[in-house]
Amino acid sequence: MAMQIIQQILFVAALGAAGYLIARRVILIKKTIELGRSEERSGDWGKMILFALGQKKMFSRPIVGFLHFIIYAGFLLINLEVAEIVLDGILGTHRLFAPILGDFYSYLINFFEFLAVGVIVVCVVFLVRRNITKVERLQNTRHRELMGFPVKDANIILFTEILLMFAVLTMNATDAVLQEMNAAHYEKVGTFFFSGMLKPIFEGWSEASLVVTERIAWWFHILGIFAFALYVTYSKHLHIFMAFPNTYFTNNDVNGKMTNMPTVTKEVKIMLGLETPSPSGEGAGGDEVIPERFGAKDVKDLSWKNLMDAYTCTECGRCTSACPANQTGKSLSPRKIMMDTRDRLEDIQQGWLKNGMDYMDEKSLLGDYISEEEILACTTCNACVVECPVNISPLDIILQLRRYKVMEESQAPASWNMMFSNLENNMAPWKFPIDDRFNWAEGVK
Ligand code: SF4
Ligand code: SF4
Repeated sequence: MAMQIIQQILFVAALGAAGYLIARRVILIKKTIELGRSEERSGDWGKMILFALGQKKMFSRPIVGFLHFIIYAGFLLINLEVAEIVLDGILGTHRLFAPILGDFYSYLINFFEFLAVGVIVVCVVFLVRRNITKVERLQNTRHRELMGFPVKDANIILFTEILLMFAVLTMNATDAVLQEMNAAHYEKVGTFFFSGMLKPIFEGWSEASLVVTERIAWWFHILGIFAFALYVTYSKHLHIFMAFPNTYFTNNDVNGKMTNMPTVTKEVKIMLGLETPSPSGEGAGGDEVIPERFGAKDVKDLSWKNLMDAYTCTECGRCTSACPANQTGKSLSPRKIMMDTRDRLEDIQQGWLKNGMDYMDEKSLLGDYISEEEILACTTCNACVVECPVNISPLDIILQLRRYKVMEESQAPASWNMMFSNLENNMAPWKFPIDDRFNWAEGVK
């Protein structure tokens, strides 16, 4: 009895500590996203259901899409079992849902075991793909953004998932043997299919050894889940949560449509004689609010949605594998753009934790994390946006960084400057005067 109470106290303490650390981290991530400038986005439940819940774009590569779906379904549905474990831990009960659900309990646990085995198989396949057969877009020798932590991160998560699933099977197998021995607290709930295969390992063990093994597996499983939940807030695996709000706030504009700056558009229209200056306004800009900065130099110039995108990126590299600039050997990788944006946000967070929440260092996203060479290599083809399974737009960040470079620093490649000057003087990218525009049609009947 005393042992039981100690276990309950320890469990509540672990639950409280995990809850506190996770909540602290979530609040910090929310504050970091709020660093971005405001942007109007209307939510779309349909897009969330289609792209996050239904994983629509993942199935553009059907085999990987199916394997990923198994891990995803396992993650979502096994949470029901976790709910029982948490309640057992708090209340000091054992398999609390068994008497409530009756025969259905056995079907449910068998189904969870089926998912657990599925998750183990898929994690092994993914480990092989990453480390042995080496899928091109996941190779850190080819893609410098994957050097160091990203590769370790992916492997840590896959190994942890395998261990957590083995803990469930061990827990159920030892439990089944203890039930057959009529051990106290181990009510008869039956043997389950997959853990039943492990039972022969434990038959013949003493009751004390079985109870210790069952308890170790139980504690390992639940503490592992707490640790996993905290770890994902530091990892690319945060996408398991962020994919939902991120797809909900998907850009509903026409695919590939670029966002203009209203003040600049107005200036250009006035210049082309398509609009008249506002009578109340000063200068051609009229009553439009002049933005503090043209484009973006650092993360606080990007919108909150760009920053949410950075926290949602799964580092899958589907964008990079479709990027023509990357394919032709340029230094641009849209995945790196997202990873750099997130790294910048994480570095700002570290500064806040050390020096207070108003602290900002002297660095900036453009220059210290992303180079001019990278952003200039983009062809604005939009392939990265189309490919991304969670509707992230690396292109939007690239365009804003470029806009800053051109409009604030007046630094564009010579060929671009020529085009800008042609647009200004000839209203076309070419250097022919407007009057000569229809010369080509002379003599055409
Ligand atoms: S829009 Fe730019 S970054 Fe995206 S795929 Fe095309 S070239 Fe690459
Ligand atoms: S931006 Fe999208 S496609 Fe590219 S690595 Fe991140 S999640 Fe994958």
